[in-house]
Amino acid sequence: MIPAWPGLRSSGRYPGRVMEAQHRMSPDEFRRHGHAMVDWVADYMAGAGDLPIVPDVKPGEIRAMIPDAAPEQPEDFADIAADLDRIVLPGATGWASPGWFAYYPCSVSGPGILGELAAAGLGQQGMVWATSPVSSELEGAVLDWMADLLGLPAGWKMDGSGGGVIQQTASDAAHLALVAARQRAVDGGAEIGDCVAYLSDQANLSLEKGARIAGYRRIRVLETDDRFALPAEALRRAAGEDRRRGLRPAFVCSTVGTTATAAVDPVREIGEASREEGMWHHVDAAYAGSAMLCEEFRRHQDGLEAADSYSVNPYKWLPVNFDGSLFYVADRSQLTGALSIDPPYLRDSGEGDRRAVNYRDWQLPLGRRFRSLKLWFALRFYGAEALRAKIREDVRLARMIAERVEADRRFELAAPVLFSLVCFRHRAGDEATAAIAEAVNRSGHSFWSTSRHQDRTFLRIAIGQVNTEAEHVERLWSLIDEVAPPPGG
Ligand code: PLP
Repeated sequence: MIPAWPGLRSSGRYPGRVMEAQHRMSPDEFRRHGHAMVDWVADYMAGAGDLPIVPDVKPGEIRAMIPDAAPEQPEDFADIAADLDRIVLPGATGWASPGWFAYYPCSVSGPGILGELAAAGLGQQGMVWATSPVSSELEGAVLDWMADLLGLPAGWKMDGSGGGVIQQTASDAAHLALVAARQRAVDGGAEIGDCVAYLSDQANLSLEKGARIAGYRRIRVLETDDRFALPAEALRRAAGEDRRRGLRPAFVCSTVGTTATAAVDPVREIGEASREEGMWHHVDAAYAGSAMLCEEFRRHQDGLEAADSYSVNPYKWLPVNFDGSLFYVADRSQLTGALSIDPPYLRDSGEGDRRAVNYRDWQLPLGRRFRSLKLWFALRFYGAEALRAKIREDVRLARMIAERVEADRRFELAAPVLFSLVCFRHRAGDEATAAIAEAVNRSGHSFWSTSRHQDRTFLRIAIGQVNTEAEHVERLWSLIDEVAPPPGG
């Protein structure tokens, strides 16, 4: 039986004096410094929009402020914390600023931070169920919640044939999908050297990197169409050619919300083509997957039931701190079959019970952080309704900007706007486009990134930072409007 929880304050179990002597930071001191640190973080979050978004430092400047060697003697924590202002802040980039429109966002939120703090305090090492039952079971529960919220197939939940796990990043998820795909092909009699991985020319670079690390010697990058999507026919053709040459089509990735333009591959058709060839089909929804909280976007991932794996990074669009990529598989045995090793020093009491999930068998590292806590906190604190409202508002703002771009003779859209990313360029060409990009990044209040396609540069406004509101988007647009040269350059 689980004993009644004594409550932290009343337990009287802190080994105060021993800790103080050995480590100098007693629980009471930790409480004092911790409160001050929470104040510091709260101030940072409140003022992030007023700080320079791009740090004004040259390479080596920060390093020069850090002593060459670690101290032999203890320092006061107050002095250590003061270096946050002196050394850390001047070199910190404003990812938490509401003027952040670059890449895709990377969230910071109150419940996310507090979840991280609690996880750090608890120090759970959830490699197997027995080393942290709560880490294992909460992760399964929260991933099941997310599967329902995102409209994922029921069989991907923990009581189905599949299941979900939190990987560090989408790259890790893709890597594992590639490994499981390779294993399935090899178990089916293929030589590793004959396995082929198919990627679109818009797939995130982590796919190619993952394929290389996973030992694929044959990686085929297929051309996308004018909407930056991978035509299923191109995949069928390439896989057919390779099969006839004696190779083994083993893996294909389709993306829902590509990195450069948020384009969407035809998931159902690619799923069908991959089934015909017995390939593993991974769906990378790192950014746009969060939009699936809203039913109206789910058409973009229609056909998931034929996919083998899926990943979405809540931190790219929902108020949950980095890191954590939710990775779902349709058949967990194909993942754990590729990854599990059962050393005698890790035999655990939950063995044999399907509910006692040993997540070390679902990932590359052995050790693992208690990442589900911050997601659990955030989902409960905001509630799904508010999260849906945020997604819809960001998409509304993106469409508003897209309409202005289309109505302005100076600009043209560079890609369809399906979610909260707007890609556009100046009609006069790269020079004018680059000048606008630089002017915005010099402003100090807004920051964005560019990309290139077919030798032409385009601007990207990625709306989704937790604190970004209409006023910040308006401020960015006013600046663009002011600095953009007239049509014709
Ligand atoms: N997949 C897509 C579609 C992305 O946009 C990104 C990054 O932006 C990644 C994968 C890689 O993400 P991570 O940093 O989580 O590995």
